[in-house]
Order: sequence, then C-alpha cells, then structure tokens
Amino acid sequence: MTLKFYNTLTRKKQVFKPLKSKQVGIYSCGPTVYNYAHIGNLRTYIFNDLLKKSLEFLGYKVTHVMNITDVDDKTITASKKQGVSLKKFTREYEKIFFNDLKSLNIKKPTHIPRATESIKDMIKLIQVLLKKGYAYKSDDGIYFSIKKFKSYGKLAKLQKIKKSKSRIANDSYDKENAKDFALWKFHTQEDGDNFWKAGFGKGRPGWHIECSAMSMKKLGETFDIHTGASDLIFPHHTNEIAQSQAATGKQFVKYWLHAGFLTMKQGKMSKSLGNILRLKDLRQKGFSALDYRYLTLTTHYREQLRFSLENLNASKIALQRLKNIILTIKNDKKINNKYLAQFTEALKDDLNTPKALAILWKLVRDPDAEGKLKAIKKIDEIFSLDLLKNEKTKIPQKIKKLVDERERARKNKDWKTADSIREKINEFGFQVDDTGRGAKISKK
Ligand SMILES: [Zn+2]
Repeated sequence: MTLKFYNTLTRKKQVFKPLKSKQVGIYSCGPTVYNYAHIGNLRTYIFNDLLKKSLEFLGYKVTHVMNITDVDDKTITASKKQGVSLKKFTREYEKIFFNDLKSLNIKKPTHIPRATESIKDMIKLIQVLLKKGYAYKSDDGIYFSIKKFKSYGKLAKLQKIKKSKSRIANDSYDKENAKDFALWKFHTQEDGDNFWKAGFGKGRPGWHIECSAMSMKKLGETFDIHTGASDLIFPHHTNEIAQSQAATGKQFVKYWLHAGFLTMKQGKMSKSLGNILRLKDLRQKGFSALDYRYLTLTTHYREQLRFSLENLNASKIALQRLKNIILTIKNDKKINNKYLAQFTEALKDDLNTPKALAILWKLVRDPDAEGKLKAIKKIDEIFSLDLLKNEKTKIPQKIKKLVDERERARKNKDWKTADSIREKINEFGFQVDDTGRGAKISKK
C-alpha cells in the first residue's frame, strides 16, 4: 500500500506525495504558554510525534517545526494578572510543557521558533498584505479583509456562510463569525510593555499571523503537512491559509491533518469547561505518562478519544502485560519481517494505530514467530512505550545466562541440574516461572 493521509482540505484519504521526494516539511501549531497543557492538548502532540516517527520509519527525512505562542491576548492578560513580565511568565509554562513532552517520549521538533523572536517576519508579511490590498488599517490595528480573498473558508467549508462586514480583534472567535480579523493590534495601555515598533504603527501581532510567518520562514512558501487539533480548523487555520496564500499567490499547505478531541463524560476536555486533567494529576492517581500514551494509540488520531480513569487503567494493565511478555522473549538475532510488514501497512493507512497495536499483540503472542525482539524494537521506535525497558524488573546478564542454562537442562530432561540452577537464581533474588510462552523471570 502507498502511504495515505486523510486531508481535511479535500475531506478525503489521499496518497501522500511530498514536494521533494523523501523529504517532508511539517508544521505543528505549538502551545500558547499561558497555562498548563492538559492531557487533551497533549494527545495532539503525541499524534505529531507518531506522524513524524512514522514518516522517518518509512524512510523520509523530516523537518518538523513547532512554534511557541508566547505573545497573544491570553498570555498578556495572564502575565499581567500575576504581575510578572511576559517573558518570565511564558518561559515557566514553556519549561513545564517540554517536561510533559519528555515524559511522553515525544521527540523535540527540529525547530521551535518563539513568536516574540519572529516579530520581524510577521511585520514583513503584514507589509506585503497591505501592499497587495488584502489588509487595511483601522483605528485599533491592521485587519485582513476576508472579502478580498476569494476562497476564504475552504478548509472549514465556510463557502455558504455570509462573510460579515464587521471586524474582530479577538484571536479566538466562533464559526458563526467569519469576520475581518486582526493581523496587528495597535498598542493600548493594557498591553503595557508588550509592543514592537512597525512602519504601520507600534503594537503586537495577532495570533494567526504568527503561525503563517513562522511556518513559511522555516519551511518555505508551500510545504507538505500542517497539523493541529481539530478546533483550530476555524478560525486559526482558515486564517493562516488566507494570509499566506494572499501574500504569496501560492498554495500554502498540501496536507492538513487534524487530531480529534479528548472527551470526558461531561463533554470535550477544555480549560473553559474546567474539566481538565494534567499528566501530574494522572501520576497522583498512579498512572505513568506512557500509560496515557498507550491509551491514545488505542483510538485512531482523528476519532474522539473517550477518556475515563477506567480506560486509562485498562491501558496501564495492558502495557504492563505487554512488557511482561516481552521480558520473557529471547533475542534470536533475527527480525520478523512478516509482522513488521503488516505493522507498516497499518501505519501507511492514515496512521491506523489501533490496528498497528493489534499486530504488535499478535506478534508477541505468536508462539511460532521468530525474530520477535528485533521487530518489537523497530515498532517501539514509533510507539515509544519503552517496551524493552523494565526498570522494576531489570534482569542482570548473569541471571539471563542462568535461565538459558536451565532451559538447556530442561530440554535435555536433566531435571536435577534444572532445579539446582533454579535455586541459584533464587539466591540472587530472582524467580523463574515456566509459562506456556517460556520462562518468565521476575524479582522476588
Ligand atoms: Zn498555529
């Protein structure tokens, strides 16, 4: 099978053809660092990581860019409330965010531009839009005229929505309000020290222009993949397309990939609904970040992930069981290409992780399969569940040797030797149990 992704732009699963063969550029909307990331936010970053690692697994060289939104309405308001500088305030949340990513085994993107360090690029882009007549100056800022951009709203399927004549200064607004949006907000008292000089008037950028400027700077005017949570389709991604394509006259992004929500009994997990859970909360309840990563793999990235502590507990048990079985598998130095091929096919089908996960389980449970361990190692390059690590029951080399010796004795029906080796193993603080799938070693 050829690699296929569901493209929000066309609402179809499409064959993936990068602009340059075997090289892929991906831009992911990063965090707005004004608060903690909740596990619903983190699901999108796990998806980004799976996407990138899958492409690398398939032989592509990936340049992955993820921005940090460290200036916008939310960050300014929240930093002022705490009475600290915007920089100090946002850097703290940025640090916590990257710690969360690390504990989820998420690889850092190739480039992580901060909005505050990319203001010049945003100003340049706004100047082009003004020059081309897509932007206009108002009393409180520079606005993008959605009427001027003919295909406005294609990504969000907004064609039938009446384009309002009014303007909106807020970065976030709902679907019923397709309005001219702010590219640049002129300085007000509320913004305090947070402004930059520009030819068209001092102020600060709107949220949407940030991503257009930072993505094109690093990946070029047209690039392969843009990702984000599905609630960003409108207005954020819709506005990114409008700004970028109006400025360059070229297609901005070829494939738009969106991750589904995480829902709780009370609905979507969101800060505004006040039903958020952080990784820290999960840890306090006895779950690891990787238990959560496992849970996310059980649902396709585009689907809603129904979260409950029961679901998470089932994932925790499944992951531990998986690791326990893997612990008993011996390295025969071979690699099982049959299962790896099936696993690869599942990934190529729009990253079908539930299917890929089922193939992993089939592999570990197949009594006749050879080359299991090396295949599992390859699979874990993508799943990143630390399947071959087992901190609590790390088995020293000398114990593994003894277990092998005992196995040989058992095969020769030399029960006396087998028993004496078992005693030796016990003396070292380990115990060996004979299961249908071979010897299982654990700490006593
Ligand atoms: Zn963005």
